[in-house]
Amino acid sequence: MHSRIQAGACLHTEPSEDDLIQATETGLVCRRGNFVIDPWKETHTALISHAHADHARPVAQVYYASESSVPLLKRRLGENLDIRGVPYSRTFELGQTRVSFHPAGHVLGSAQVRVQSDSEVWVFSGDYKRDHDPSCEPFEVVPCDTFITEATFALPVYRWQPGAVVAAEIAQWWQDMQSEGRPAVLFAYSLGKAQRVLSELTAFCDKPVYLHGAVHPLTEIYRAAGIRMLPGLPIDLDDKQRDYSGELIIAPPGASGSTWMRRFPRASTGFCSGWMRVRGNRRRRGYDRGFVLSDHADWPGLLQTIEQTGARRILTTHGNSTALVRLLRERGMDAAALETRFSEEEDGDASV
Ligand SMILES: [Zn+2]
Ligand SMILES: [Zn+2]
Repeated sequence: MHSRIQAGACLHTEPSEDDLIQATETGLVCRRGNFVIDPWKETHTALISHAHADHARPVAQVYYASESSVPLLKRRLGENLDIRGVPYSRTFELGQTRVSFHPAGHVLGSAQVRVQSDSEVWVFSGDYKRDHDPSCEPFEVVPCDTFITEATFALPVYRWQPGAVVAAEIAQWWQDMQSEGRPAVLFAYSLGKAQRVLSELTAFCDKPVYLHGAVHPLTEIYRAAGIRMLPGLPIDLDDKQRDYSGELIIAPPGASGSTWMRRFPRASTGFCSGWMRVRGNRRRRGYDRGFVLSDHADWPGLLQTIEQTGARRILTTHGNSTALVRLLRERGMDAAALETRFSEEEDGDASV
């Protein structure tokens, strides 16, 4: 059909018009279902994988998303939008397709999208991870024929320690700063990463953490969803007397190097990101500490997941997919990269 023989006799299928889901100018379009997954241009019906800004844009008339992501989507896209929450695993019909959301383990409410047409099953992973995370629903393997996987950290150098191990490093750093009488300012994405850290830290203490204005309201949504976290207090920038020595403060990466930081003289700074796995990134950005913590799958996690889905065909998103596609083809699998506009790590208030 659309296959061709490559050097080394490995067979692969380029993305084509016949595909159930196609990457277009508008987003990941499913014509048989009359919807777009994570659209980036105006459309009628959107299926949203999760509330990060590169996946959830205010461009549709009707939105479907996992039930637990609805409060986050309303906060980010607008309270009055037509956002319809669907419980995980519940199948509903759109056009000639049957659709369902399944946990992606990335942030609260994050979903993989399963689309079935006749007997053909496609799964769009959204962003996902396999590691334990007490702040969101665990990833579920969804068998399929074609798996569209993210490939943010698709290089063998990216391997994660368990979140509890990284949280112990953060707790130790906070304690060290208490002894030195300095504030510890931790930069972490305001949706997902910050709440994961607050949740993991409950194993070490019950002290309150001060939260940047971008982090605090999202954390309250997590708390309302029943996620157990350290108490979070908003920072009162007008209270010039308040001394934050010995406190932990969580802020989005965009606040790093801004005037906001003047409130915390002598602060030690840390950054929580999968990119911290590469030493030069920390040095270049001038953080005192780098904590390797990602809400995306690491290299072994990507390979394990691809295998577990049993998919015959693999399509990759997020741009960083050359090594992954090459490896899968070497293993005789049908793999190709999809052109999408998802960023490598997100949440709109940070450029990494
Ligand atoms: Zn994401
Ligand atoms: Zn993404």
